[in-house]
Parts: sequence; structure tokens; C-alpha cells
Amino acid sequence: MILTTPAPADLDIDVIRQQFPILDRMVQNKPLVYFDNAATTQKPQAVIDTISEYYSKYNANIHRGIHSLAEEATAAYEASRTAVQQFIGAAFPEDIIFTRGTTEGINLVAYTWGRANIRPGDEILISGMEHHSNIVPWQILCEEKKAVLKVIPVLDNGELSMAQFKSLLGPKTKMVAIAHVSNALGTVNPVKHIIEAAHRAGAVVLIDGAQSAVHLDIDVQDMDCDFFAFSGHKLYGPTGIGVLYGKKNILESMPVFHGGGEMIREVTFERTTYNDLPYKFEAGTPNIAGAIALKTAIDFLNNIGKGHIRKHEADLLEYATAELEKIPGLTIVGKARNKVGVISFVIDGFHPQDIGVLLDNQGIAVRTGHHCTQPLMRRFNIPGTVRASFAVYNTLAEVDVLIAGLWKSLKMLS
Ligand code: PMP
Repeated sequence: MILTTPAPADLDIDVIRQQFPILDRMVQNKPLVYFDNAATTQKPQAVIDTISEYYSKYNANIHRGIHSLAEEATAAYEASRTAVQQFIGAAFPEDIIFTRGTTEGINLVAYTWGRANIRPGDEILISGMEHHSNIVPWQILCEEKKAVLKVIPVLDNGELSMAQFKSLLGPKTKMVAIAHVSNALGTVNPVKHIIEAAHRAGAVVLIDGAQSAVHLDIDVQDMDCDFFAFSGHKLYGPTGIGVLYGKKNILESMPVFHGGGEMIREVTFERTTYNDLPYKFEAGTPNIAGAIALKTAIDFLNNIGKGHIRKHEADLLEYATAELEKIPGLTIVGKARNKVGVISFVIDGFHPQDIGVLLDNQGIAVRTGHHCTQPLMRRFNIPGTVRASFAVYNTLAEVDVLIAGLWKSLKMLS
């Protein structure tokens, strides 16, 4: 894990908040307090403007046109690919494949790499804290190939059992697919260590970066992962756009995914030859506006600096944790030593759903439920949690609103 950016001198949260028009709105006649950032972040005006500008000034299909609009759109789309390459430290722009999001990236790998490389009896190793999108594609593959899905257990504090990881890793392990950061617990997993050990065992590694790309500095070459998938909408960008990074030699060796326009070199009815990377995996007209606006989101993040954001979110996490722990019967689920700004909790005698509804009545948006991690909820013997997750625009005053809102909700439910 890389935590290299220096801590902030000072961050003017008011100035940052002014860039997010949605933060001015009222919900249930109360000022919105948005703590559902792990589900999706709000968008700064610059991202909204980029989408609007694309459609109002240079909307055209990319790569195929020779007219000016097509050239402008293509240049902006490819500039975004380069921005993503730099953002995650990839060696080549061709390592960057635009997808719809993390889910599509993982499915692409399971479908193409998986079907070419997994044989009966092979093992795929995931962890007990994976999001359903990093479980189900591997299950489908295992079923089809008669391979075996193995799971690294989660400890009571929300960290992975590294001892179990070592004993589960073996010569049959062909793929290790792990979340960089847990969306339900906030745990930051020691991915560099996991990748090193997996490579020593001869396995390929996919990192689910859905929750990490916005918080941690990502350097895929330093990490040495084979694949890294993330979604634009969790890092202040639009929905419907994401990225799959893959090492070039592995991507080149993989069979194609979707068939259609753009991914071909030549088509005859007898035989089709395929395009070079990354277009080989980008069939059809992509989310052009989304890809272009993803660069704006990356610029937004880079301008503030992830180190500054991380420090601010760590302050929110520390304060919220201390205040939540004062509430009788409240248990925080996930107390890993290395966490991002995600707090999941349960309160004795109260259903998470009821708490969520009462908080919403006070304008406070939290997530309740299983967070697409049903096996993890089962592991902790709970139906779900209430989850508050922080972004750069959140404030300590908003944490106070949440805490006051919780006390009020509990009084009403008692
Ligand atoms: N993995 C993790 C850890 C996530 O938090 C999410 C989104 N909640 C996903 C994968 C799936 O991301 P998307 O829905 O953007 O494809």
C-alpha cells in the first residue's frame, strides 16, 4: 500500500463544497448530509460541465470519422485514456481499457482470461470481504470449468487472515482476486504483500480498486498487479464509465470479449481479425462523454491532492468513530488498523433499515443493508449494517448532525 502524498497544510472545505451544486439542496426540508459516498460520490460542477460541453459542442462518434467534430471527440477521449494511465501509473495507454465500471472489468477478465486459462481442478482465491461483483463472475467461471473457489477468511477486526491466505495459496491457485479496500468495512488490504506471494505461487492477480482509487495513491507498476479495475462514479466522475487496467502482455494474450464494431481489423464472413489493444476490448460506441468527464474528475482529485483528501477523511473517521462509540449498544463492524473513511455499525435491538429511514427523515443519507457483501454479513452474523462513508466535501459539523440524528432516531425507536 502506498501512502506517499504529504499531509495538507490546510484544505478549504467550503471552497470545495461550492463546487458541488447538489450539496445545496434540501432533503425532507433539511440541508442534505451526504454520507453514502462509497456507493457513489457527488459530482463537481466541472464534471457536469464537461458532459454538457461534449454534447453541446463536439458530440460525434470517435475513431471512425474524419470530420472535425469526430477528431475533437476522439482527441478528448484518448486524452482521458492518457490521464487514467498517469493516474494509476500504468506503463502504456494501451493498458487502459474503458469499461462501464468495476463490474464489467472483472467480468471481462473472468470471461476472457478465465476461459482461456482455467482448467478443471484449478483454484481461484478470493476473500471473505469481496463485493458480489468480485465473487459471482468467478463462481460462474468455476462452475463452467469445474474449478474451485477458495476464500480467505476475515478476522473479527475486519482484516484478512494472512496466515490463512498463505496456507490457501498453492500450485493449483491460478487467480487471486482481492478488493484493495472493502466497501463494507473500510479495510485497506495489504495488496502488495498479497500480489508478491501470489506471483511466487505462479498465480495472476486482479485487484478490485472500486473503493481504493479515490482514496489511495495507485501505482499499478509498483503494486505489480496483473489487473486493476475501478469505476468513475466512485471518484467524483460519471456513472457508466470505468477502467480495466491489465499488463500489456497478458491483455494481448487474452481472447476478445464483446464482438462488434471497433474491436475488429478485418471482417469477412469466413473469418475476422481483431484490432490492437486497447480497442480489441472496446467493442461498440463507448460512453464518450463519460470517458472525457472521467479526466475532469481525475483533474479535480489531482488538484486537491489525494494526500490532502486522505488526511481530511481520516480526521472525519477518527471523530465519527469516537462519537459513535459513545452510543450505548453500538458496535462498529470493521476495526482494521488500516482503514479508509467508511464506518459500518449495528446497534443492539434496532434494525439498520429503521435507522436509515429515520436518518433520511432528517436529511442524512447513509446506506443500510448488506452492501452487496452478503457472505461478509453472514460471517459477522448480522443482516446488514448502517454505513456512513466520507468524501472530501464532508465536514465535522456534518458528523455532528449524524450523531445527533442517531440519538434522536434511537429515542424515537425505543
Ligand atoms: N467492488 C467494490 C469493492 C465496490 O464497492 C463496488 C461498488 N459498490 C463494486 C465492486 C462494483 O462497482 P460498480 O457497481 O461501479 O461496477
